[in-house]
Amino acid sequence: HLSKYDNRHIQFFNEQVVNEVHKKLNLEIELRKALQRNEFVLFYQPQLSVKTGEMIGMEALIRWIHPEKGMVPPNDFIPLAEELKLIESIGRWVIKEACEQTMLLFERTRLPLTVSVNLSPIQFENESIVSDIQSILEETGLPARYLDLEITESAIVNYQRSSTLLKGIKSLGVQISLDDFGAGYSSLSHLKNLTIDRLKIDRSFLKDIPEKDDTILSSIILLGHHLQLIVLAEGAETKDHLEFLKKRDCDQVQGYYLSKPIPFAEIEEYVKNYQSQHISRTS
Ligand code: C2E
Ligand code: MG
Ligand code: MG
Ligand code: MG
Repeated sequence: HLSKYDNRHIQFFNEQVVNEVHKKLNLEIELRKALQRNEFVLFYQPQLSVKTGEMIGMEALIRWIHPEKGMVPPNDFIPLAEELKLIESIGRWVIKEACEQTMLLFERTRLPLTVSVNLSPIQFENESIVSDIQSILEETGLPARYLDLEITESAIVNYQRSSTLLKGIKSLGVQISLDDFGAGYSSLSHLKNLTIDRLKIDRSFLKDIPEKDDTILSSIILLGHHLQLIVLAEGAETKDHLEFLKKRDCDQVQGYYLSKPIPFAEIEEYVKNYQSQHISRTS
């Protein structure tokens, strides 16, 4: 039979498991209430033209302002929201909020800025996404061309279905970006046939530039251009990164070097004062 020591050991292990289950359960209860309690906010990260340094758009990134924990990043709750199927209602809120705020910005600045919204693969499974987007555009008045939806390759599980859904979304006049391109599973043959407008290259490819070999990154930029896609590089953190992207004719850039994601209230100031300070105008 078990000695006293073994008993304690087992009990300790069980407590840990119980604690973790408890923590997740609490998070689940709180996440279920977060939407009605208005605990979500969108931050926006500027996207700039590499050539001119002008801001061309921004990516909406969700944050959960938890009453005790403070700001919770999306990677800490989006997977749970997907598991609990809460992502559909959270995702719809994100699209609506992003369109509303972008419309406000447009009314104030008259600048043609697009807003990129991340779509979970689960939202992309439901055909009602097309009519949802359509009614949000009607309600907010945002011209469809100013909305860009970011999907990842993992959303394209069933090529036929995805292709039909993408066409439906495209027919609204909305743009489509393929997010985190090159990370994980990529099917290059699908890339050619799907109706997408833009490739967002995963930030892992820029990380070791200029120290490491840049063959893959340079080739992805060329590949995108050969497919008539706009190419955006994610995760530019240094001047070297930016210089490299310029040299390789990458179209657009997003990254901490240009701006971290910021609250909506700070976007207008960014457009006015900071957009081109890191990129000299060359044309
Ligand atoms: P993502 O769509 O690839 O978004 C880019 C992430 O990279 C953001 O993290 C951004 O803050 C971060 N980032 C941007 N520039 C740099 C850089 O120069 N260096 C580094 N190290 N990181 C950079 P964030 O906001 O934590 O979001 C993480 C992921 O959560 C997003 O990755 C996206 O997949 C997901 N996410 C965010 N908002 C939403 C949403 O509203 N709905 C869904 N379904 N997913 C979302
Ligand atoms: Mg994204
Ligand atoms: Mg990304
Ligand atoms: Mg991502």
